[in-house]
Amino acid sequence: MTTTPATSPLLDLSGLPRFDAIQPAHVEPAVRSLLEALRNTVERLQDDPAVPTWATFVEPIENESERLGRAWGIAVHMHSVMDTPEWREAYNAMLPEVTRFYAELGQNLKLFEKYKAIAHGPEYATLSPARRRIIDNELRGFRLSGAELPDDRKPRFQAIQEEMASLGAKFSENVLDATNAFSHLVTEAGDLAGLPEDVIAAAREAAEKAGQDGWRFGLKMPSYLPVMQYADSRSLREALYRAYATRAAEIDNGYSKPEWDNGPLIQQLLALRAEEARMLGYRNFAEVSLVPKMADSPDQVLGFLRELAVKAKPFAERDLAELRTFAREQLGLSPLEPWDVAYASEKLRVANYAFSEQEVKEYLPEHKVLDGLIQVVEKLYQVSIKPDTGPVWHPDVRFFRIERAGQLVGQFYLDLYARDTKKGGAWMDSAITRRRLASGIETPVAYLVCNFPGPVGGKPATFSHDDVITLFHETGHGLHHLLTQVDDLAVSGIHGVEWDAVELPSQFMENFCWEWDVVREMTAHAETGEPLPRALFDKMLAAKNFQSGLQTVRQLEFSLFDLLLHMDFDPATQGYMDLLAEVRKEVAVLVPPAWHRFPNSFTHIFAGGYAAGYYSYKWAEVLSADAFAAFEEEGRPKGSVLDTATGLRFWSEILAVGGSRPALESFKAFRGREPQVDALLRHSGMVPA
Ligand SMILES: [Zn+2]
Repeated sequence: MTTTPATSPLLDLSGLPRFDAIQPAHVEPAVRSLLEALRNTVERLQDDPAVPTWATFVEPIENESERLGRAWGIAVHMHSVMDTPEWREAYNAMLPEVTRFYAELGQNLKLFEKYKAIAHGPEYATLSPARRRIIDNELRGFRLSGAELPDDRKPRFQAIQEEMASLGAKFSENVLDATNAFSHLVTEAGDLAGLPEDVIAAAREAAEKAGQDGWRFGLKMPSYLPVMQYADSRSLREALYRAYATRAAEIDNGYSKPEWDNGPLIQQLLALRAEEARMLGYRNFAEVSLVPKMADSPDQVLGFLRELAVKAKPFAERDLAELRTFAREQLGLSPLEPWDVAYASEKLRVANYAFSEQEVKEYLPEHKVLDGLIQVVEKLYQVSIKPDTGPVWHPDVRFFRIERAGQLVGQFYLDLYARDTKKGGAWMDSAITRRRLASGIETPVAYLVCNFPGPVGGKPATFSHDDVITLFHETGHGLHHLLTQVDDLAVSGIHGVEWDAVELPSQFMENFCWEWDVVREMTAHAETGEPLPRALFDKMLAAKNFQSGLQTVRQLEFSLFDLLLHMDFDPATQGYMDLLAEVRKEVAVLVPPAWHRFPNSFTHIFAGGYAAGYYSYKWAEVLSADAFAAFEEEGRPKGSVLDTATGLRFWSEILAVGGSRPALESFKAFRGREPQVDALLRHSGMVPA
């Protein structure tokens, strides 16, 4: 059945999505007609000789693009949560066209000229800061795509982009091929000691499939990781460690092929990135990477990483000393070899901090967790969250509204349980973004989606503590979207928020899952109704911070290496392994063997979007911990971190403003100063004695 666009429920954008009526067959005609409308608007405006203004140029494009974004967003959402063959087909049928359209929009030089005309015209100074930021962001996007280069240099710029894309793709293919090529056959059952049953069974199956007798292990995570953590056989661990550490490298490890060596690709990628940066007028690629990010300059990030390293290193040394002593005295492993580290750590963790995840789960029934979460949000922001009604895509989905003083602020869907048709993981996405229209405010709507176990055998669902943390995390993203007070779409909610700051509100919420006051209130044993015992909570806390020093310096090693590689490093005259050795001398306590080729499989920065951006993980953690510390400082003396005055300030300075001003400005407005690393160290148990 085809539906004419005029009557399609997917084109009814007057309110909540019509999940009761929308069908996969609606996608193609609706999205086609919206693409067409937006394309027409763009074509009309790009050739319009009149001086562009916000009202005559930006707004019409924004309106059409909002309609397309919302309708297409529903298709994207349904593809993620109801991945039936029909939805998959409907989504895939339109995906290339939509992707191509947006890519072309970003390269449209006539539009670039129009935005420039607004930026240089008299209207610019009269625009609100949020609107000026939208114009600035548009210009920045065009510039970083090479729009301002002289015409004779554009082909080279384009060639660099294409070459980098194919080198990145080749890089990850090499890692994948090398990972898949290796196998190790165990023929004596005695060599399997320590491994979990399911891992042994999988290894047996892999051997059978390959027509071999015995147990076959490989370098993919579900095989490699358990061997490193649990296998009592030191030689088995060593064999896999050596193979893993030398993937896609020049070293002959018995299974690799010379054409999988990523070394030359790394050198080429670095040279191309440096060339791109120079063409755009920057000193190095790190500067380019930071332009759209919160961090100001590579030097600022360097300073940040080094400060954290100095503070974390003594704790990493403490962790390592504890591990060495344990390995020597309890496991007879001395010296501690690289392939002993994960194994001994797992044994130490169990000896010191073991508790049963299952036991904790009994205390976290769904209704109690949801009530606890809602209470946290209501107390912090003086809002009320109530069940609401609206069409949903599955009977398990719930719908809520957030009100402040009786006024609707926003609404959200909660889709908690795992389903065969749902994509894995957890996420927040926007259904409607807040903006001001002539008719009034359009309030925001969010999707919160998780993959938790549902109710079984008539009993309510119970969640693990990790599940609860995930729920708080996604709720944090949701509140960023829902509590925005920005009137302009492109910087409203999470839109336009810098990449290295967008995890602040989500990680911030996770902290409440480690607060005794909050946890006590949201736990009740499934049978006895008792709250979680304090002793069990303390064990959870200790386990959370297990080896936090070692983990921190490892992340800092990767971050520093990534950043320095994209600063003054010259691939023509320097070797990246030498740079890594220098970085390790500075921050690492566990130094891998000289033949370890970690960079050759560092896909984050050579085949992902993290080049000169790996620091973002730690950066966002520091921000969220430091923001949470404000609640500790102001709330604890009054008896609870759920401090409303601080909550309302967090709302108005961070959540409310979204992408409408620089994240650093927002942070400073909330905290009264620049971010500091101390809170993260304290929350991770790294407190000087
Ligand atoms: Zn997140």
